[in-house]
Amino acid sequence: MLKVSRILQADASSVNNFVKEAMRILDPEGKYPMPVIKIVNLSGTRWLGRCTSTTSTVGSTINSVSSVIQLQQYILADDTTLQKVISHECCHHVVISNFCVGQDRKTSLAAYDRDGGHGPSFFKMASKINAVLGADFVTEHSDESYVLTEGTEVYLFMWERSPGDILYCWAARPSAKQITYVKRRKCDNPDQYKLTKTRDPHLQPHNCRIGDGWVVEKPGPLKDSLKELWDNASDLTEQLADKQPTFTIILKQGGGVINAWKADKLTSRIQDSLKMRFKESYEVRTLKSQDQELYKELEGFSSLRYRGRQPGDYDKILKLWDQARPLAYTAA
Ligand SMILES: [Zn+2]
Repeated sequence: MLKVSRILQADASSVNNFVKEAMRILDPEGKYPMPVIKIVNLSGTRWLGRCTSTTSTVGSTINSVSSVIQLQQYILADDTTLQKVISHECCHHVVISNFCVGQDRKTSLAAYDRDGGHGPSFFKMASKINAVLGADFVTEHSDESYVLTEGTEVYLFMWERSPGDILYCWAARPSAKQITYVKRRKCDNPDQYKLTKTRDPHLQPHNCRIGDGWVVEKPGPLKDSLKELWDNASDLTEQLADKQPTFTIILKQGGGVINAWKADKLTSRIQDSLKMRFKESYEVRTLKSQDQELYKELEGFSSLRYRGRQPGDYDKILKLWDQARPLAYTAA
């Protein structure tokens, strides 16, 4: 049974049917488990769907691959888009399963990495779908085309750099770091900054989150509507609650030793570097935490191994290891 959370029954049945249809084409013998579907609502991301796969091993052999397909909630409004995105993500699930299930962990994951996210094996699967559902139904980018919807409400942080000249950046759910940034700026120069909310998708460019930099608009309607917001909106800085920052603990085990690091965010760059450096000879797991004491104890990601300084440190790291999950492979 598919697990479909947080969506209406009618949508759930389309989602179910599209997954079953794609899997019937891609895996006619039903060798692999159905992917689990999760509906998400993440603004500011380019993907409409995303497939994250986790391998489980017995000895050095991978015995199963389970995948979670995340779908942006707003694509439920359009059945064709929904089916295209689901079919695309199912191709990723079957490709990694074909590479890994029943195979040696090191060599099969290395072969999967070499094939690339949208490599020959992906296109082989895509062509099976396209033979049934039509040419170009699944392409390399068929999970990125936009469906127009009303924008999501986000925080907009404005800076009046000089009179009438408003710059901005934004965030959907500000992180602890972003909240600190907003509050510090606002505290130092209260008259120059204002935090408000907007649904205007034009004010949510891909690359200008709070703390990353500022958008400078050219004169035009968008600049005018910014000025209007600046003049009329009330400031929401005080409404932002302080947050305990979440971070990721990265653990690797090999040769009887567990090493641990922290990363503020498990970016795809860090995941790639972990795969490059460690996947061949170590098992890598990750764990999210808000334990600020532990944050201080763990060195930065680029630094060397965790050294137990106190008796009992190793027990602590073993406990973390047990709670952590295998490093997942994410393909958009
Ligand atoms: Zn893809």
